[in-house]
Amino acid sequence: MAAVKEISIEEKLKGLVRLQKIDLKLDEIQILKGELPIEVKDLEDEIEGLHARQTRIEEEINGIQEFIESKKEGIKEAQALIKKYEKQSENVKNNREFEAINKEIEMQQLEEKLCEKHIKDATEEIAEKVKQLDLAKKAVATKETNLTGKKAELEKIIAETEKEEKEYNKQADKAREDVESRLLTSYDRIRGNYRNGLAVVPIERDSCGGCFHAIPPQKQSEIRIRKKIMVCENCGRILVDEELNDSIEVK
Ligand SMILES: [Zn+2]
Repeated sequence: MAAVKEISIEEKLKGLVRLQKIDLKLDEIQILKGELPIEVKDLEDEIEGLHARQTRIEEEINGIQEFIESKKEGIKEAQALIKKYEKQSENVKNNREFEAINKEIEMQQLEEKLCEKHIKDATEEIAEKVKQLDLAKKAVATKETNLTGKKAELEKIIAETEKEEKEYNKQADKAREDVESRLLTSYDRIRGNYRNGLAVVPIERDSCGGCFHAIPPQKQSEIRIRKKIMVCENCGRILVDEELNDSIEVK
């Protein structure tokens, strides 16, 4: 029974070392891709925002154009009324009636002027919006060119590394099967804590291979026996002896 358990711990350690080495290969691929995936995502978001802005400006321009049309209608109505009043003024019976009609004509003339002023202002507003629209379109074009370049770069790297990544992911899944889940949880947690992604390290020159904290000889012997999962008291990383570490090769 004891013998089985002994092998089991050693196998678990080997599984962990294998997983660590595979994960480091996967990390290398991620480093190669670098910031590209984030840059691509950011550019896509920015372009989407600019498109939304473009649509908004276009809708605003449409709204102003409708306003101009309504004012043109207003001018036509005022002109028609003026004509009607002018005709009526030919047949007035007295001064009072004449003045009343004249007042109506003046009011319609004022209305006509007001409509013209509105049209002039709105036309200027449209010119300003067209400028904004033009800027937004240019910004989209620049960003789209940039995005195309970055996407091509990323796709090239992905194409180059895809096979490798798939293979390593497969190997990682298999290595995980050899390690119990409780240990895997610790491994993932420790790995996430360190930028270099090291959770399992060998003893190197009597020290922890992760933080270089000295390891007492007694503890080193215990690690070499491979009967217990030992961690560095300073950094918490799982420690293995150098020989076990070197015996695992990942290609
Ligand atoms: Zn350490």
